[in-house]
Amino acid sequence: MKRLARALSLLSLVIGASAAAQPGTPSEVPRRVAVRAARMLDVKTGKYVSEPVILIEGERIVKVGPGLPVPEGTEVVDLGAATVLPGLIDCHTHLMARQEETPDGYELALLKKSQATRALEGAANARATLRAGFTTVRDVENEGSGFADVALRDAIRQGLVEGPRMQVATRGIAAVGAYHPFGTSPDVKDLPTGAQFVSGVEEARRAAREQLGQGADLLKIYADWATPTLTVEELRVIIDEAHKARRKAAVHAMSGEGIRNALAAGADSIEHGHDADRAALELIRQKGAFLVPTVGILEALAERAPDAATRRRFDARLAGARKMVALAHQLGVRIASGFDASTAWQQGRNAMEPVALHRAGLPPIEALRSATSRAAELLGLQQHVGTLEPGRYGDLVAVSGDPLADLTELQRIRFVMKGGVVIRDELTPVASRAPVAPAPK
Ligand SMILES: [Zn+2]
Repeated sequence: MKRLARALSLLSLVIGASAAAQPGTPSEVPRRVAVRAARMLDVKTGKYVSEPVILIEGERIVKVGPGLPVPEGTEVVDLGAATVLPGLIDCHTHLMARQEETPDGYELALLKKSQATRALEGAANARATLRAGFTTVRDVENEGSGFADVALRDAIRQGLVEGPRMQVATRGIAAVGAYHPFGTSPDVKDLPTGAQFVSGVEEARRAAREQLGQGADLLKIYADWATPTLTVEELRVIIDEAHKARRKAAVHAMSGEGIRNALAAGADSIEHGHDADRAALELIRQKGAFLVPTVGILEALAERAPDAATRRRFDARLAGARKMVALAHQLGVRIASGFDASTAWQQGRNAMEPVALHRAGLPPIEALRSATSRAAELLGLQQHVGTLEPGRYGDLVAVSGDPLADLTELQRIRFVMKGGVVIRDELTPVASRAPVAPAPK
């Protein structure tokens, strides 16, 4: 029974609403597509495969190899001299966030934007993210948009909206007073909050159950905000509820103490960890948790700093975070890529993260794994995404250059396919192009 429930819950995470998969509908011959290119990066071995052919039936890859024969009746997508990679994965998105870049941008979004506006912005962000080559995301809190992330995930599955496969955390859970909105009048009632606030073990348990009941694929929890916030006991009941439901828990923790609390409570991943010392990083490795360092967003913020003083502040934070990433890598911590976009211009720039991880000290192949195979492990979806192997979804991207020699190629994605359907194509001759994804219904 347990195994059945587990299998069903996993299925619900990864299966889109495909007519062929539904009982009672007439079975159709699945569409066959063969993707060809000059080479393909095998992220497991770290080596290029020359003249690969990737055969896709329906949504999934059935065969991959150099120079495979293409069966009759197969649509061919020839990417010429391009390099093919698995569809990219971002493990730390906020697709429902599109805030102004002002000190009170977060609060103004809560005050001025309706839930309907938030949902539509989420759809735009999802499209930008997918077109940037990110075919799967783990969305770690919807920033005060109710359960709109669940609606967006489901709309994408149904083909109503163009976007990546999503795991969603819904509201996030924080200690009372320890997350946005900050600085609002206590007389303002019913303003949506950025996370669900709890105080005490029973409130924490209730929040976890509510969010899981509303369709959360994982829970996002805040262990610190400048200083430690939720207690280990509060963290533990939330994470226990997630684990009972076969879900994972992503814990925001910047400080050594926050990280220790999160790991003592059973966290599956530490988000940010910017101020982690060696002992905290060693503990992450010992516990087998993942680190999602979100270092690219610091590069982005430093680049766009409005004045010299702000720039210096961000540069200092960035230097500290880079050192932390280099040490984490050296210690063998499993690192997954997550960009943490929350403004309009950041959405769709997700590839800044693997590039930033490389600048911080990860070899190119490790930075690529952080956004493909390793990310899939964190999501528990390694049988479905993250590599180009039989059984995985036909999720792939292509670039013109050599991503191992120049990782910024990831910021110039020329072709995107999701589940065997072309999403973006700047490579094949116009006359021979496969039909692109249909316009949203
Ligand atoms: Zn975040």
